[in-house]
Amino acid sequence: MEITANNPNRKSWLKVSEDSDFPIQNIPFGVFITKDDIITIGSRIGDYAIDLGALHQLGYFEGIPLTDDIFLQDTLNDFIADGRKTWRLVRNRIADIFDVKNSKLRDNPEHKDKIIFRMDEIEMLLPVSVGDYTDFYASKEHATNVGSLFRDPENALLPNWLQIPIGYHGRSSSIIPSGTPIRRPYGQNRPAEGSTTPGFGPSKLLDFELEMAFITTASNNLGDRISVDEAEEYIFGLVQFNDWSARDIQAWEYVPLGPFLGKNFASTISPWIVTLDALEPFRVDNPKQNPKPLPYLQQKGKGSFDINLQVSIQPENEKETIVANSNFKYMYWTMAQQLAHHTINGCPVNAGDMMGSGTISGPTKDSYGSMLELTWRGQNPIKLSDGTERKFINDNDTVIMRAHCKNDKVRIGFGECVGKILPAKPF
Ligand code: MN
Repeated sequence: MEITANNPNRKSWLKVSEDSDFPIQNIPFGVFITKDDIITIGSRIGDYAIDLGALHQLGYFEGIPLTDDIFLQDTLNDFIADGRKTWRLVRNRIADIFDVKNSKLRDNPEHKDKIIFRMDEIEMLLPVSVGDYTDFYASKEHATNVGSLFRDPENALLPNWLQIPIGYHGRSSSIIPSGTPIRRPYGQNRPAEGSTTPGFGPSKLLDFELEMAFITTASNNLGDRISVDEAEEYIFGLVQFNDWSARDIQAWEYVPLGPFLGKNFASTISPWIVTLDALEPFRVDNPKQNPKPLPYLQQKGKGSFDINLQVSIQPENEKETIVANSNFKYMYWTMAQQLAHHTINGCPVNAGDMMGSGTISGPTKDSYGSMLELTWRGQNPIKLSDGTERKFINDNDTVIMRAHCKNDKVRIGFGECVGKILPAKPF
């Protein structure tokens, strides 16, 4: 089925500024709550939120097989479970309804009143109920940097890293939408030199992790697997993902079973899921993989995506300072390889599962995706525009992540992924 929603020449009758992340070619999916406390599934064009529940009730999806209440829900899980054909039909239809040449809704003020909201009239919620969350570790530069800092610069990359998309199972209960404040976590840290009693208190090395995450539809039953060639069929879309990390807690706890409380106190996502379909024009070649992975991981075609990523830190009542510029294309393992690997043992993947990419670090020092790497564990603090320095994230700092793709015709973006660190809760 043709993705007519991606037509780069299409214009909307809704006003869209030139630098908007949400032109009519984007049509992301999210969940929002209106001023009247009504929760609905929606999309966005420019600075307008579109109530898909109202659109459906008023008959605009006629001819597409959808249950009556598919958009009158507080999560996208059921819609995602309907599969790629339905996502495409709905996205194509929304593009058609808001096309500048289509007068049906454009010239119906009564319907417009029920369907269209200004972004400042609504609040974005979590778009999916995340059943299971997996975090990969798929950036070679990041794995090399962390291996050097935590273990041994001579053997930074462990031998399995180039053969396996390494990952761990995270915790979905602490995945939160952009804008939700985060308390600095308490935890244990490594005993001081000469002591056997661990330290305990608010984390001193609180960090962000610049990631993207993809959200799946129901993919396989227990015991079945998904091939690398069909894996993308099961990817609904992507969000930005800040996998907050407490490095001091992490460093003390991570041997032998890996990340635990240093990672699961909060992970912030951007609220609009940008579909894999919308990202089609931004495919790029996979990174060169040497050694060649096992056959079940070998992927043909272009499985990487050119998505510009940026991180800023904003102290309270101050301007923000950009601290990193990276790109999703720097990932060594693609999303399809991750999903194929995830199911190679027969582990089922469900609608609404979320897979984090792992921190995305590029080849240059300004493209690293965490403070741990940017400041080289605090050795090279970053100067902010207000004159203060940061080794890690301070109380009342806000971390802002942005992501967008751009070619000479369209810009498709993700909006913002924002989180503010509040002081630790007193004991
Ligand atoms: Mn992570």
